[in-house]
Amino acid sequence: MILLAAILNPMSPVQLPQFADHSRRWQENFYVYPVISRRSGGLSIGVNLNPDTACNFDCIYCQVDRTITPRVREVDLNVLRAELAHMVEHARRTDGAGLFDEAAFASVPPALRVIRDIAFSGDGEPTTCLVFPEAVQVAADVTRAAGLDDTRIVLITDACYLTRPRVVAGLAIMDANDGEVWAKLDAGTEAYYRTINKPNYPLAHVMTNIIAAARVRPVVIQSMFLRLNGVGPSAEEITAYLGRLKDILAAGGRIAYVQVYTVARRPAESTVTSLSDEEVDRIARRVIDETGLKAESYYGIAP
Ligand code: SF4
Repeated sequence: MILLAAILNPMSPVQLPQFADHSRRWQENFYVYPVISRRSGGLSIGVNLNPDTACNFDCIYCQVDRTITPRVREVDLNVLRAELAHMVEHARRTDGAGLFDEAAFASVPPALRVIRDIAFSGDGEPTTCLVFPEAVQVAADVTRAAGLDDTRIVLITDACYLTRPRVVAGLAIMDANDGEVWAKLDAGTEAYYRTINKPNYPLAHVMTNIIAAARVRPVVIQSMFLRLNGVGPSAEEITAYLGRLKDILAAGGRIAYVQVYTVARRPAESTVTSLSDEEVDRIARRVIDETGLKAESYYGIAP
C-alpha cells in the first residue's frame, strides 16, 4: 500500500507562549499537569509517572531539572485518579473559574481549548513505573467516565522496555482505549545515538522493542534532531536513520507517521541549539521521499 505522504505544519513557526512552557509542575499536584502541545494540537494533560526524576537515558536536550529534591518518589494511584479527574473537570469549566481562566492559559485560542490527549510523559521513562498498567487503567477510567470519546491516551517513551510483560499489559489497555505509542528514535547509528541520548541500552535493543510494539499496533516515531556545538546531524546520519525506519517496516512493524522536531525549549546543556525550519523540513522530506511514510515537521525556538 502506498502511504499518503505529506508534511503538515499544524502550528509553526512557534508563536504561542504556552508552547514554550512544558512545566511538569502545576500548583500542588504530584503527577498531573496541563500543557498546550504543538504535537497534540490542543490541551495535553500530562501524567508524570516518574516523580523521582530518574531516567534510563540522559538525553543532551533533556529539560528535566534533576537538582530539585522530589516531593514524592512513587506513584499513588488514588492521588493520580483524583488529580486526573479534577484536571479534566477544571479544563472543561466555563463558569469563569476553569483552567482557561487562569493567567497562564487565558490567551489560548478557542480552537486549542480541547483535551486532545492524556499523555504519559514525565520526568523520566514512564514504562519504568512499577504501576504503569494500573496507571493506564486509571487514565482509561477517567476518560470514559468523563465521556471524552475523542481523547487519546498517549505514551511518550524511549522504547527500551516495551517488551516487558507489565508494559505489554499496559499497552494492551491503551490499545483498548484509543491509545497511541510515541517511540523516540533520534539517531540511525550507534555512535550518534550514544552522543544524543546517552542511553543504558544499545540501539539494537531500542529497535527490537520498537519492532515488537509496532507489530501489534501502528506506532508514532518521534525524532529529535538538533545542533550540537553548532553542528547538526550529517546527511549520512540521516541516511542511517532512514535505514532504521526501513528496518522497522521490513520487520513487519507499522509506523503511523514520523514526527520530525527540534529543540523548542531551552535545554539544560547550552551546547544544544535548534535546527532551522528548513533543516527540519529537509529531514521530513527525506522521510517521505525515501520511506513512503507520512511525516510532520515541528519547528524550534524562534531566533
Ligand atoms: S528520555 Fe526523556 S526524560 Fe529521559 S533523559 Fe531523555 S528527554 Fe529526559
